[in-house]
Amino acid sequence: MTTTTTEAAPETRSFEADVAKLLHLMVHSVYSDKDVFLRELVSNAADACEKLRYEGLSNPALLGDDGQPRITVTLDPDARRLSIEDNGIGMSEAELADALGTIARSGTKAFMDRIAGAKDAEGSHLIGQFGVGFYSSFMVADQVEVVSRRAGTDTAASWSSDGLGSYTIQPVDLGDAPARGTRVLLHLKEDAADYAESGTVERTIKTQSGHVPVPILLRDKPDAEPRQIADGAALWTKPKSEITADDYKDFYRSAAGQFDTPALTLHYRAEGLHEYTVLAFIPETKPFDLFDPDRADRMKLYVRRVFITDEAQILPRYLRFVRGLVDSNDLPLNVSREMIQESPVLAAIQKGVANRLLAELDKLSTADTARYLTLWDNFGAVLKEGLYEDFARRETLLGLARFKTTTSNGEWRSLKDYAAGLKENQTAIYYATGTDLDRLATAPQLEGFRARGIEVLLLADQVDSFWVTSGLDYDGKPFRSVTQGLADLGLIPLADGAPPVAAASPAVESFIAFVKQTLGDAVSDVRASDRLTDSAVCLVAPEHGMDRQLEKLLAGAGRLDAAAKPVLEINPRHALVETLSAAEGGDEELRRDAAQLLFDEARIADGELPVDPRAFSARLMRLLQHGLG
Ligand code: ADP
Ligand code: MG
Repeated sequence: MTTTTTEAAPETRSFEADVAKLLHLMVHSVYSDKDVFLRELVSNAADACEKLRYEGLSNPALLGDDGQPRITVTLDPDARRLSIEDNGIGMSEAELADALGTIARSGTKAFMDRIAGAKDAEGSHLIGQFGVGFYSSFMVADQVEVVSRRAGTDTAASWSSDGLGSYTIQPVDLGDAPARGTRVLLHLKEDAADYAESGTVERTIKTQSGHVPVPILLRDKPDAEPRQIADGAALWTKPKSEITADDYKDFYRSAAGQFDTPALTLHYRAEGLHEYTVLAFIPETKPFDLFDPDRADRMKLYVRRVFITDEAQILPRYLRFVRGLVDSNDLPLNVSREMIQESPVLAAIQKGVANRLLAELDKLSTADTARYLTLWDNFGAVLKEGLYEDFARRETLLGLARFKTTTSNGEWRSLKDYAAGLKENQTAIYYATGTDLDRLATAPQLEGFRARGIEVLLLADQVDSFWVTSGLDYDGKPFRSVTQGLADLGLIPLADGAPPVAAASPAVESFIAFVKQTLGDAVSDVRASDRLTDSAVCLVAPEHGMDRQLEKLLAGAGRLDAAAKPVLEINPRHALVETLSAAEGGDEELRRDAAQLLFDEARIADGELPVDPRAFSARLMRLLQHGLG
């Protein structure tokens, strides 16, 4: 296509640095799965039609005499060209430069980091996951021309680039532009000539984009009659019996820009007080930005098939991994995006959809445990945020939660399982928090629990420190940290039937008093422990202090001024402790060194540094020398 220019001179501009880098990746990409560019361009065209449909609600003049949205794909095999045209909202000259010269999305940097080290197939998956959309056309084209006319305006402009660092923008005559909307013309690379062949293009569009809510027409040659290859009937409005698993998967991929297969698909129509249709998917893989603080839920809101907004916050934040849409029959079509949050209809939808999703998850947990556990593996850490953010659904969420424990051998356990294995006189659900499951499992604080066969939940997600200290209980049993307060294990019999632990001897008591005096302010208490069997010492938090793991998290985030002083617990039955206790009256200096070393040793077992590393090594040297000399 040649475009006659009006008087204004073409203006060449450089791409933003990030775009240039991204384009370099696209131009030089060796990804085999290049089909994705078609999906991206069709999805942009469909978005543009939906935006117009929405703006047309309050400004019908925008639609003029052409109220039928459509996407037309035209092929020119002889010239190796492909164009995709829509009669959607279009772009002004300024919008063209803005949309196709910069990258607004924060995820793009992350995308480039990831793709740099990615392998072939994985790379194109990432393209979809990160949504670098339009620029993917440079995987197959060495020249891309976009001509656009914003709905309701009398000017048109073109954007053109070879993807190598700069693009040109200029106004064009109205006669060379679509009457409304955008045409994207690709000059295909030699090895991408297939994309000018109707067989390839029809097949690709039908599988990738067959369910976009805008009809798609295909012209095999520039002068051929267009024929419809997709009807634009919104998939969610069809009866379930007419939809195959593949249809759902294709829709999920094109609507959500995903490449995986949904792990759970939920499609239903709510009837009664409010009528709405829900089509929701839980992905099979974790999105890269799951823990990005800006990530909100990904549910789109439609009103009678008109796309309204993807910012209605239909789901609570802890369900932000769910993708899909709700199409309401009751919301007024002219509802403004700003007013939606106030609507009681939306409130009812929010409540209904979240409840239903959790109920489906619960069902899945028994109907297909393996699939449920994969899901939990991916998204459990996010769901657990609900335990302190959504009081009304705490019970449900606790029921859904699964845990690794000291007795589960790496398997997931529910709290119901846990409750069934409570020991005689056990009044609490015990847990240990940390950053690493393996290290957690070997913490000295767990020894006494192991010796009694008491199961301890191993909590290694950041979120755990928060919900577990938020005053929850399960089945009347409070959650209790194994590293806080007194363990109170005296009443629970040992697993091997050994007699209950005897109190510390007077010599040990006196040694403990000596350690306490030596450590002074560094600890809040020193006492005999009933939670140790093999180790000599460990640290725990005071009864009413903050959990030590939470304390570390907050301190690491700079949100804690002063940490509480820990309690040093000493194993009165440990051989070393007995020896040290028997040495009363001996070398005072050496015993003080020993007291300090015990404290540092306990810190090291918790993954911390000694209080004063230099003093620590000096003491250790003195003791070693003494022992060997
Ligand atoms: P995304 O679609 O995720 O925003 P893209 O790279 O696919 O990212 O597109 C960038 C932007 O370019 C879009 O957000 C939109 O503003 C604009 N755009 C692209 N194609 C079209 C089109 N056919 N009609 C109108 N605007 C478009
Ligand atoms: Mg896009």
